[in-house]
Amino acid sequence: MLLSYIPYALEFIHPFAVFGNTRLRTPSIMVKIESEGHTGYGEACLPPYLGETVGDTVAFLKRATKVLNTVSPEMGLDLILLMLKPYMSADYAGMAAVEMALNDLFARFEGKSYRAWKGFNTEISRDTAHTIGIGDLEQLPGKIKEAEEFSTLKIKLGTKRDREIIEFIRRHTQKPLYVDVNQGWKNKEEALELMIWLHSQNVVLVEQPMPISMKEEMIWLTERSPIPTIADESVRRMHELRALNGSYAGINIKLMKSTGLGEALRMIEFAKKEGLKVMLGCMAESSCATTAMAQLMEFADFIDLDAPLLYKNDPFTGLTYKNGKIVLNDLPGLGVEPKPGLFENSLS
Ligand code: MG
Repeated sequence: MLLSYIPYALEFIHPFAVFGNTRLRTPSIMVKIESEGHTGYGEACLPPYLGETVGDTVAFLKRATKVLNTVSPEMGLDLILLMLKPYMSADYAGMAAVEMALNDLFARFEGKSYRAWKGFNTEISRDTAHTIGIGDLEQLPGKIKEAEEFSTLKIKLGTKRDREIIEFIRRHTQKPLYVDVNQGWKNKEEALELMIWLHSQNVVLVEQPMPISMKEEMIWLTERSPIPTIADESVRRMHELRALNGSYAGINIKLMKSTGLGEALRMIEFAKKEGLKVMLGCMAESSCATTAMAQLMEFADFIDLDAPLLYKNDPFTGLTYKNGKIVLNDLPGLGVEPKPGLFENSLS
């Protein structure tokens, strides 16, 4: 199998603020794997705050290439993935890209959509939340209006302005809200008081209210909160999910954290058994990785997969958005195709 890749800068339509810094673009690497006349596609999305760099990811892809050069489709997907794992260190996004491309490729070998190949619901279409950046409050009414077709809005909180922001939003819309605190609250009593108030304001979940290190406080808060607490930064992979121990009521699964679709599915299965809520999310990914994650929509309680809408140079086609819903196509594989020329100067 032949792997090639191309580093790509995804350019935001509006400057994107997260963790107190604002950025104009997201570094990513687009990957393709070719075998027997078919091509599978994947994406490593590398927002700088996660610490995975383009250089490290390219180094991983070169190691993966050596393995893939020695394998053939007859060996099967599971064995090939097993052979790749030892070459991964902290390359979660790089592994996600390769795993995604291999899943795409193997479903294409069968001439079936990934969902049909896995025996999932092929007709699925679901509402996604749409994130609106806060910034200046004066701009919010316009942003709320722009997001008219979406049934649920997501906003980032975690500053002294939290109540002020919600009160302002509630003057303009009564839609249910997802709130993401990104570890911003440091006091459990204050957090609980705020959660009780947010509940009265039709906030339906709160993501990562407190820092990863405050696990005991999170157990206390989750026991008392009227709103489900959803782990994001606290849970990347299966071993962290197993160690949750009541500190959250649900988890936000993202391919760039889980190292791909296979582990995401195992996490979903485990979460359901434990009675945990499942949210499907994404980093600021293009249509390639977002479409891959959307294949699992039927298993989710909450969906937050709107990242491609943030970009002006999405290099893939795949999922589409219609009346606030994600619509998937039935093309073979993940249903993603690169726009012409994307891999023209690709490296291998
Ligand atoms: Mg989050």
